[in-house]
Amino acid sequence: MELRTALATLAATDHLLVATDFDGVMAPLVEHADQARPLPEAAAALRSLAAVPRTSTALISGRALDSLRRAASPEPETLLVGSHGAETWTGPNAAPLQLTPEQAELLARARTAVTSVAQDAPGCWVEDKPAGVVLHTRSAPDDVASAAVDAARARLGELDGVQVTDGKRVLEVSVVHTSKGEGIRALRELTGATAVFFAGDDVTDERGFEALESEDVGIKIGPGDTAAPFRVDSPAEFAAVLEHLLELRRAAVEN
Ligand SMILES: [Mg+2]
Repeated sequence: MELRTALATLAATDHLLVATDFDGVMAPLVEHADQARPLPEAAAALRSLAAVPRTSTALISGRALDSLRRAASPEPETLLVGSHGAETWTGPNAAPLQLTPEQAELLARARTAVTSVAQDAPGCWVEDKPAGVVLHTRSAPDDVASAAVDAARARLGELDGVQVTDGKRVLEVSVVHTSKGEGIRALRELTGATAVFFAGDDVTDERGFEALESEDVGIKIGPGDTAAPFRVDSPAEFAAVLEHLLELRRAAVEN
């Protein structure tokens, strides 16, 4: 099926959930994550979709919620899932993430392990998240990066209960076992969506594509193996898809 046909069918659903990854999808990838900003066309389309009746919007990101808010400046209607599903913001009354004492202790040990690896690996650095820790290797030479990832995996293998996931030049460590697929399932239930649109560009987004059902539409941005039935090349092309979906959805809701 063509993407246009699939979008037209999707837009006619009773309650639509439009969920998208942020980095590499809404926003072009940049060297420094702090500088990532959504393409204006994509941000405007998502904002307008949020205002359409029977339509919910969400950002599902690997970023911690704080970092996602800073980079994306989402409108208050947009639901947020951060840290690959470990953090969720569903409105003003949403409960913040609370780690059990065991999870907090495990996180401290994981942080120590990853930090000691990064200290010996020039160009690698560590990001703290509320439920995890991330080894960033984007600025390191390839051999240093892969040795650091191997060393971190070995150290973390000694810790029972940590979830370790590969991303693009990052190693994600979480003490809350979750995924973007879990995030989509939770949002589907919360919003009562009858169909879901989901877009992503990274390995961790594959869990999201796998959580899609037959009436949903999944789009992979850029190259790489994917379970998504559709693909576009760039965030700019994705912005055009969102704008098209907005048009179709407005027309469908008016009828
Ligand atoms: Mg991404």
